[in-house]
Amino acid sequence: MNTGKSYAQYLDQQDELKHFRNEFYVSDETIYFDGNSLGLLSKRAEQAVAELMDSWKRYAIDGWTEGHHPWFYLSEKLGDQLAPLVGARPEEVIVTGSTTTNLHQLVASFYRPNGRKTKILADELNFPSDIYALKSQLKLKGYDSSKHLIQVPSNDGNTLKTSDIIANMTDDVALIVLPGVLYRSGQILDMKTLTKEAHKRNILIGFDLCHSIGSIPHHLSDWDVDFAFWCTYKHLNGGPGSVAGLYVNKRHFGHEPGLAGWFSSAKEKQFDMEHHLTPAADAGAYQIGTPHLLSITPLIGALELFQEAGITRIREKSLRLTNYLMELIEAELSSYGFFIANPREAAMRGAHVFIEHQEAARICKALKAAGVIPDFRTPNGIRLAPVPLYNMFAEVWQTVQILKSIMDKGDYKQFENKRGVIA
Ligand SMILES: *Cc1c(COP(=O)(O)O)cnc(C)c1O
Repeated sequence: MNTGKSYAQYLDQQDELKHFRNEFYVSDETIYFDGNSLGLLSKRAEQAVAELMDSWKRYAIDGWTEGHHPWFYLSEKLGDQLAPLVGARPEEVIVTGSTTTNLHQLVASFYRPNGRKTKILADELNFPSDIYALKSQLKLKGYDSSKHLIQVPSNDGNTLKTSDIIANMTDDVALIVLPGVLYRSGQILDMKTLTKEAHKRNILIGFDLCHSIGSIPHHLSDWDVDFAFWCTYKHLNGGPGSVAGLYVNKRHFGHEPGLAGWFSSAKEKQFDMEHHLTPAADAGAYQIGTPHLLSITPLIGALELFQEAGITRIREKSLRLTNYLMELIEAELSSYGFFIANPREAAMRGAHVFIEHQEAARICKALKAAGVIPDFRTPNGIRLAPVPLYNMFAEVWQTVQILKSIMDKGDYKQFENKRGVIA
């Protein structure tokens, strides 16, 4: 392991994606390793929002069909642009709602308890919002979630075993909802195998791709996944509260969505204003109401950058960044009580490094005070996400040096070991 600064600089010189950093507003004073919570603003996203404001100013109501990006078709158009990132056909993807409302929509559409099959299978490590949504969907159908929501346990508190998940795919399970990449440990679940095993047992399966979209390639259509949903403000850099996305396998087209609204309509029928819904023939049917145009627009610019860089190259650089980070942590920080808690194999880890330390909360505060933005995950986790489109190997090197100095000097001791409001 070469721990020298010049090696980091060499890696940056060799980096094919290095020019993308100029596309973003990156501060020179900080090292931003939190792009998996909120991606940075790109100049193109900013430009797209300026164009939207201009269309509103100039065209008013006609902005729906005129201007730079006619609003009426934007959710579909952005769905087409997102499709390659999830490995789907363009008509299987739509940009709409939020992660949690899309999960509600998809469970309302695909959870059809029948006979013995009444249960929903999830896991005990998923993000709380997903679990709350599943419990409330069970309640709406008249089921007691303490009996009908099964959560696959984790042996180590950080990861899940494919075999444990499969062992829980029992006869009474109607639907499975799991993350593609776990938000804490960054573990990638084997979506292909899990889908195959679920289908063998006549169970529908969907994935939450919040931490996998924009960070790893997917092949949802080939894997035959039934549905998926994700946010766009993390790896996709869509901005705070940007509009989310969903995927529905084309096998399921032609049904009314569980939660309907006039934007579920076939576009040519929508303004007939009939009280009988003719749903769109594709994933567009899973929209509900008027798209949140002010928060969908940044994606026009943000997704262009993904098209130009390509997810294969993004993933390749991401693995090199995180690998370099883990090697430096091991070489430089082994005596300070840090434990790398994400899976080590490339095929099993997403785009962030997850380290555990008893003093994690205040080490994060000390890092922030020293200009490195990590994020803390209770009770003792530090997530560090070097983002391929805008972070550099030199920043990874610098971060490890800063961390070492914080530990050597005990700088973290001046902070309380407690999380902030937004951790
Ligand atoms: C970020 C995240 C969410 C957030 O849901 P919102 O509806 O966008 O607030 C949900 N699930 C997972 C797994 C996440 O990582």
